[in-house]
Amino acid sequence: MYISVAIDGPAGSGKSTITKQVASDLKYNYVDTGAMYRALTYKFLKNNLYELDEEKILNILDKTNLEVIFNDGKQLVIIDGNNVTDNIRTNEISKYTSLFATSRAVRNYLIDIQRDLAKDYNVIMDGRDIGSCVLPNANVKIYLTASIEERAKRRYNELSSRDKSISLEELKKIISERDYQDSNRKIAPLIKSADAILVDTTNMTISQVVIRIKDIIAEKIKGN
Ligand code: C5P
Repeated sequence: MYISVAIDGPAGSGKSTITKQVASDLKYNYVDTGAMYRALTYKFLKNNLYELDEEKILNILDKTNLEVIFNDGKQLVIIDGNNVTDNIRTNEISKYTSLFATSRAVRNYLIDIQRDLAKDYNVIMDGRDIGSCVLPNANVKIYLTASIEERAKRRYNELSSRDKSISLEELKKIISERDYQDSNRKIAPLIKSADAILVDTTNMTISQVVIRIKDIIAEKIKGN
């Protein structure tokens, strides 16, 4: 049996940074499910689809081939043969991803791919609905969060080296809107499952969070 660890939480809670590090230390595959939603969104926008139209979405999905591969522990997302891993981190894609993530067709399309990735490897999977929907039987479930101020600050520091056009206040607003949309959608909203362990990273350094998560995993696995 393979071990699966589910890490859920809102944007900017540190999920990807922490999960990447823990995966590398434990030699697990790091599965970034947000990247899959982003990759599909990339394709919708390329096809000039900017609204939630289930019929058009189904039509595009029908002609879509999404592959998720691991190269040296790094997850690559390939859409119709094109590696889009580095093209899906823009603010525009983030905004539309939260919209398309409310689509039933999109979620149905991705859930099987995500479950398959946990079948043959030890995985740490991050997202919004991993503990609640994708891997309800995960060995370990963690809900990572931080205050909105702290999350906006982290995103600002991350972005400001590339994009100085966006202020901290604007980012706070964008992240709050994304939180609202992710937490209030009908299908698979962002929630903390009852059996997930809450880790508030507001006043923690990256290495403190990594240690805490590895301790939780070790403790849980020992008890299994
Ligand atoms: O984690 P990341 O910021 O890359 O996710 C982008 C968006 O994808 C989220 O804001 C959310 O709308 C959607 N998402 C989701 N379910 C997941 C992962 C991401 O709905 N498991």
